[in-house]
Amino acid sequence: MSEALIHAEGLARRYQMGKTDVHALRGVELTILPGEFVALVGPSGSGKSTLLHLIGGLVRPTAGRITVNGLELGRSSDRQLVRYRRDTLGFVFQNFNLLPIKRAWENVAVPLMLAGMPLAERKARALSILGQLGLAHRAEHRPSELSGGEQQRVAIARALANRPRLLLADEPTGNLDSHTGAEIMALLQKLVREEGLTLLLVTHDPGIAGYADRTITLRDGMIVA
Ligand code: ADP
Repeated sequence: MSEALIHAEGLARRYQMGKTDVHALRGVELTILPGEFVALVGPSGSGKSTLLHLIGGLVRPTAGRITVNGLELGRSSDRQLVRYRRDTLGFVFQNFNLLPIKRAWENVAVPLMLAGMPLAERKARALSILGQLGLAHRAEHRPSELSGGEQQRVAIARALANRPRLLLADEPTGNLDSHTGAEIMALLQKLVREEGLTLLLVTHDPGIAGYADRTITLRDGMIVA
């Protein structure tokens, strides 16, 4: 058995809302292996985003431990977390989060710029990933000139730019029609199979969860299935 990419033990997160405590996550045990495609489902308010943010190093646990790629996130410095997010993770969002004034290839190149890659090299890398995702002919277009499905593919290309081990996706098909959503899911599935990526995807939609190898269900801050 290969070593876990994500491992959580007794993972909890509490938020203070005035005088009341909100227990967003209460003792989550979780192991995800490299190369797995896992769907995270559960009703609104069950803690899905909190778990995704903990794994993304954007929020710290209030109890328990979360280790990703050998790094215990709750004990890491802010600098380590910045480096972790840059080198290990790719993020895909429901609303694409592309920069409207930048061309497709420039959007893909943003994380490469943040990593200090020279311009010629990052343009070449961005064009190569866009080509791999079937978007070579859209590289010079701005987001407003692209369809929703194309915008999400550009966003996936951006998430892949730094060759992450782990892709975190929050309702990535939530703004797409069902046909385009199915195309995006097929693309993500192919990336997991062919590139050895690990994918953790939050969704409300059982049809979307059906693309995953495994589904984790959260309820009231705990894993129930
Ligand atoms: P989901 O993504 O499943 O809808 P969340 O993780 O967003 O669930 O929320 C779980 C619970 O934690 C909810 O009750 C929510 O109101 C609360 N919560 C989440 N983030 C915060 C925050 N920053 N401050 C206060 N409460 C929060």
